[in-house]
Amino acid sequence: MLERLSRRSFLQLGATAGAVAAVPRWMMAQAVQPAGGDMVSQARAAAATTPIKTTKLYDNVYLLQGAGGNMALQSGPEGNLLIDASFATAVPKIREAIGAVSQAQADALINTHWHFDHTDGNEGLHAAGFNILAHQKTRERLSTPQNMKMFGFTLPAAPAGALPAITFDDTLHMWHNGDSLELVHFDPAHTDTDIYIHFHKADVLHVGDTWFNGMYPFIDEGTGGSIGGMIRAGEKALAVAGNETKVIPGHGPLGTKADLQKFHDMLSAVRDKVAALKAAGASEQEAVAKKPTSEFDAAWAKGRFTPEMFVGIVYRTL
Ligand SMILES: [Zn+2]
Ligand SMILES: [Zn+2]
Repeated sequence: MLERLSRRSFLQLGATAGAVAAVPRWMMAQAVQPAGGDMVSQARAAAATTPIKTTKLYDNVYLLQGAGGNMALQSGPEGNLLIDASFATAVPKIREAIGAVSQAQADALINTHWHFDHTDGNEGLHAAGFNILAHQKTRERLSTPQNMKMFGFTLPAAPAGALPAITFDDTLHMWHNGDSLELVHFDPAHTDTDIYIHFHKADVLHVGDTWFNGMYPFIDEGTGGSIGGMIRAGEKALAVAGNETKVIPGHGPLGTKADLQKFHDMLSAVRDKVAALKAAGASEQEAVAKKPTSEFDAAWAKGRFTPEMFVGIVYRTL
């Protein structure tokens, strides 16, 4: 099935009913998924009406949570700096949320990685004055069609206005609105485009989708993600975070270094269990059937990303 989703054909994709049924709830926002529908248009439709919750983290730093990945805003005389862009349809609500706490001009938009629940709003926010920054590979990924095998669809290349105009490879330092920001690339983890953004003075650390707080994560094996990379990304972020640091996950509630440590420890334990099964000759199906996450499911399954999906990814990316 191939459906044209919008006049501008920004998002055109094919989705099978089977793939849609496997879509985790976090990617569907509040959408009710009709049989044979597609997740991108549903997520965008839901994002149009999903309210954005604003939480003050520091004098001029806010957490914005609505549809899509968690966003952060830094306001000040040099202009508004936003981290991540949610869905295109959320842009009016994002601008409203920003306007409620800041009268400053749009300035910079940083993408934590290429995924569409973090970059679909790029074009609209760029049109509203934001200059987009990201890792070089985020620009590369957004510039070409990306196949999301697990979900059974291919995202087309993003329009020119959605592409980051400023990119970096390893590290970028910014001095903005009286704070010093460090943007650092993770080695491939959730994808091969992931970065963290650390506001030194505000002591806020956004780690993007290298952390799903309180749930099993999605790891995009099609664009460089792996369980080992996720664990190493957690170690890198844990080395940067202090006990008082406010750590923003890509999905889930605001957390602390201790919360991030719990996630890291869960990933490591599951990795070890699945690796042992694989080393003993278990096929992927057999490994899933052994329920290696059973002791963690009560705390981490939460109906978002199933243990079966998570174990499958772990097995395949070991
Ligand atoms: Zn995400
Ligand atoms: Zn992601």
